[in-house]
Amino acid sequence: MTRIIKISENRIGKKRIRYAANQIKDGKLVVFPTETVYGIGANAFNEKACREIFKVKNRAADNPLIVHICRFDQLKEVAVVPDKLFKVIDRLWPGPVTFIFKSRNLPKVVTAGLDTVAVRMPSNKIALELIKESNVPIAAPSANISTFPSATEARHAVADFFGKVAVIIDGGRSKFGLESTVIDLSKKPYRLLRPGSYDVSRLEKVLGKIIIPDSINKTVRKGKVLSPGMKYRHYSPKKPLFLFDNINELISASRFLESKNVKFATFIPCEYKAKVNGNKKLILGSRDKPDEIARNLFSSFRKLDEIDAEIGLIADMKLDSFDLAVRNRIVKAAGENKVKNVKQFIKFIDSYVTYR
Ligand code: AMP
Ligand code: MG
Repeated sequence: MTRIIKISENRIGKKRIRYAANQIKDGKLVVFPTETVYGIGANAFNEKACREIFKVKNRAADNPLIVHICRFDQLKEVAVVPDKLFKVIDRLWPGPVTFIFKSRNLPKVVTAGLDTVAVRMPSNKIALELIKESNVPIAAPSANISTFPSATEARHAVADFFGKVAVIIDGGRSKFGLESTVIDLSKKPYRLLRPGSYDVSRLEKVLGKIIIPDSINKTVRKGKVLSPGMKYRHYSPKKPLFLFDNINELISASRFLESKNVKFATFIPCEYKAKVNGNKKLILGSRDKPDEIARNLFSSFRKLDEIDAEIGLIADMKLDSFDLAVRNRIVKAAGENKVKNVKQFIKFIDSYVTYR
């Protein structure tokens, strides 16, 4: 049975946190809010509980978990960290950035057998209190069934995990709405493994030069990957999402789809509302407020599956902040459905219309 517990970050009810923490201590799973997205957590030292996370998420066993901590002494329990790095990390935590170190003491299931571990100290007060009360590091990937968009509201996690976890804590909408930035500090030069809510150029001011691999915004299918999670289909709605190079291509495509009576939805910044055809426009926010677009992205992807539409359309966009992370999520969510040009798209749709 799953208990859904509402907790406000401004006034954290001790009794409620204690209930959830007792479930963690008891080897159960708890969905909890963080400032990035919701996490599905277990005691990081409990192998069986961590195995259960993989099972309920349908997560590939070679995709390691992020270990969440609330104090620096917990970092030493799970990772080997050079002394001089502590001061540096202290300037960045708590916050939406995950670091990779050499791992220690953790069951293999958490690190997927790697000799490194991903660790983060979140800034969300509910997450911090939960870890504190549990008195153990909490291993937690994003609270979504694998390949689907991460949960940015408790109701998303309820849809995916009700009946499969002990507790779902409803702490309201996620502040950032995109996962943490992942940086490998286990070897030099430091390297970006996943763009996320913490801007890389801000991290560079503290950490020095960070390498951004070319593969970051590609759909990697095979071969060696730096971070196992990056090779999987990710963040995708169940319905096909088509990615266009720019908004003008999307606008032409929307005109064509309307003429063919295909039911489609568009994901667009509000500035283009008047230009795009169709009556299902999922407004991501304003281009001038990239944080809004980041926050709304996953919940609007989930909306595509709820509304009466067959397909979704989105266009690449250049943003002043969150640019790398937002574009990464869009590229991965669309996967193979990257449209080379409108002509090619029209061909695809023509064949689809014949067969549906
Ligand atoms: P999620 O928590 O679902 O956002 O996924 C955690 C992300 O961290 C995935 O992309 C993992 O591949 C990555 N990750 C976790 N542990 C490691 C590690 N030891 N080395 C590289 N990447 C990692
Ligand atoms: Mg995830």
